[in-house]
Amino acid sequence: MNEVSTTAQGPLVDTFGRVARDLRISITDRCNFRCVYCMPEEGMQFAPRQELLTFEEITRVARLFVEELGIESVRLTGGEPTVRRDLHRLVQMLSALSTPDGRPLEVSLTTNGSSLARHAELLRHSGLRRVNVSLDSLRPDRFLEITRRDVLQDVLDGIDAAVATGLDPVKVNVVVVRDKNEDEILDFAAYGRERGVQIRFIEYMPLDASGTWTLAQVVPAEEIVAAIDAVFPLEAVAHGAEPASRWRYLDGQGEIGVIPSVTKPFCGDCDRVRMTAEGKFLTCLFATEDLDLRGPLRGGATDSELAELIKDAVYMKWSGHRIGRVDFVRPSRSMSQIGG
Ligand code: SAM
Ligand code: SF4
Repeated sequence: MNEVSTTAQGPLVDTFGRVARDLRISITDRCNFRCVYCMPEEGMQFAPRQELLTFEEITRVARLFVEELGIESVRLTGGEPTVRRDLHRLVQMLSALSTPDGRPLEVSLTTNGSSLARHAELLRHSGLRRVNVSLDSLRPDRFLEITRRDVLQDVLDGIDAAVATGLDPVKVNVVVVRDKNEDEILDFAAYGRERGVQIRFIEYMPLDASGTWTLAQVVPAEEIVAAIDAVFPLEAVAHGAEPASRWRYLDGQGEIGVIPSVTKPFCGDCDRVRMTAEGKFLTCLFATEDLDLRGPLRGGATDSELAELIKDAVYMKWSGHRIGRVDFVRPSRSMSQIGG
């Protein structure tokens, strides 16, 4: 159970008693990759520039969440957040915020890593604490097939640069898809052990723009853990609200995470909320309804008015998604438009 801290407005509680502590902010719907499980090769419609929140608008909303509504960590995502010019400036603005009891806001980033070798140091010095890099294959030909870009080495260099600059932890997100990259699970485990990075294996979710996801393509987290445990023995690590179930190598060589969003949803423990690059507030990755914050923000709403809207939206948060059930409704936005 989360300890509820006192803020002027918050905390953000829903009818099931869950408290939101983590805010995911998408800062762009654009990307320099075209991962097959996320974006189509061509034809993606992007939001016009003026529809994206500016850094100043993002910071105003983040300040409200952090100072008034109990949010303790912010993760920047997209699309690919590093394609937004001067990202370090936003990191600087956000990392200057602190919670009412004086703790600095924890700012992290999810990136495809393609430009991290160039930017890791500046981002770190601008206040970035931690980074998750997405990487689904360690084989150049397959990396190209999945991302439709031939830049595996850039991503590997980016991961090394992130570790070298002191971002901590550096995690590597691997979406495992049946008959696509499941044969690399052990290679990834070995890579993570060698580099000192935590590999987080993510179950494939029905958020691909192509709409071709099937349950048969999901490799259950349990199967992933069993495959690794057979070669590198593991033990479970007790965990709280975070979605990854963590497993530690018995020989002390680090740990892995698995994110069983499909086979074992963690909705009952969910502590996160989201905002898209256009300022739509979502209480769930799979939410089919959203709250527009950009309109009121640009229309002169006060902080108290914005806070009331946000609190009402969180209060109505549903119990959870229903992937794999007959009544599951796919959200109209795909992963890159929401912010994963
Ligand atoms: N571009 C950045 C990146 O790839 O890390 C940030 C945005 S991306 C949408 C965030 C995360 O969502 C990545 O780890 C990506 O692998 C994951 N993702 C994208 N589509 C997915 C899907 N259909 N199922 C599961 N994870 C997905
Ligand atoms: Fe881009 Fe990330 Fe989607 Fe790949 S997963 S297309 S890198 S937003």
